[in-house]
Amino acid sequence: MTEPRPYQHFGSYLNGLFGCRVQKISLDAGLTCPNRDGTKGTGGCIYCDEGGSGTGAYERIPSITQQMLQGKSLLKKRYKAEKFIAYFQSFSNTYAPVDTLKSLYQEALSDIDVVGLSVGTRPDCVNPEILDLLAGFQKTHLVWIEYGLQSFHPRTLRMINRGHTIEDFIRAVDETRKRNLNICVHVILGLPGEGLEECLLTAARLAELDIQGLKIHSLYINRGTLLETWYHQKKYRPLLQDEYVDWICQFLELCPPHWIIQRLTGDPAPEKLIAPAWTLKKQTTLKMIQDRLKRTGSFQGARWKGRLVKGEA
Ligand code: SF4
Repeated sequence: MTEPRPYQHFGSYLNGLFGCRVQKISLDAGLTCPNRDGTKGTGGCIYCDEGGSGTGAYERIPSITQQMLQGKSLLKKRYKAEKFIAYFQSFSNTYAPVDTLKSLYQEALSDIDVVGLSVGTRPDCVNPEILDLLAGFQKTHLVWIEYGLQSFHPRTLRMINRGHTIEDFIRAVDETRKRNLNICVHVILGLPGEGLEECLLTAARLAELDIQGLKIHSLYINRGTLLETWYHQKKYRPLLQDEYVDWICQFLELCPPHWIIQRLTGDPAPEKLIAPAWTLKKQTTLKMIQDRLKRTGSFQGARWKGRLVKGEA
């Protein structure tokens, strides 16, 4: 029997909802991002590569149905998965006319084994029409919207060239929750100019908001990004594995205990990764996080007090 984890594990949550192994199928709909197409900027976030932090699958297989079929067969073999969540991952998956989005989402959800929809996007890329569309799918499917935020510090958002503000994010959260959609926020630890104190303040600020889940990873450097240049110029040093484990455990302690933790470490493509090499050892990092929490008797929410006490973090 698997030991209970000291945090809300996404796989267990899905198993509890559907009574079987459920896996996400990562999809690339061939969309783009306002931070790359010139609307907000052209260079993108300093760590984003040409694939828009995604799979690049659209280049090989443009059809969503075909991507779904391929994903299903792989995940059935690898994990004995029985049900699936269509996860629109690459670039900004609400950045298209609502009719285009509707047909993309419907195509993915038409598969009988698909029980949910997860849509990754930016907080400045949603509007009431798109949120209403997503909310409509809740009648038949589990729906999550994933907002890339990365940090709660305006200075950091500017430094990493996110091209949106904290206010954009708070507005998006409010509008999304009016429709009862589940929100998962993406956060990165080890961003340039941030130490442990800044990371923990991000946790504390997020903990004040009505969100339901979190994805966290440490910043890694991909080939061809501005971050790679900074790394070679010694302007940026990535976190060590021990540092990351320490920081993320402290981060989790400040998170509300009910948040579903969808990711605790990144998944860099080995052929694109410049550094740090330890980010390729996902299972080792996950074990280190669990061991550290167990050893210290800690857990997700151990230092969460319901609402932030100002100046605590
Ligand atoms: S928002 Fe996402 S897709 Fe757009 S530039 Fe940043 S990381 Fe890349």
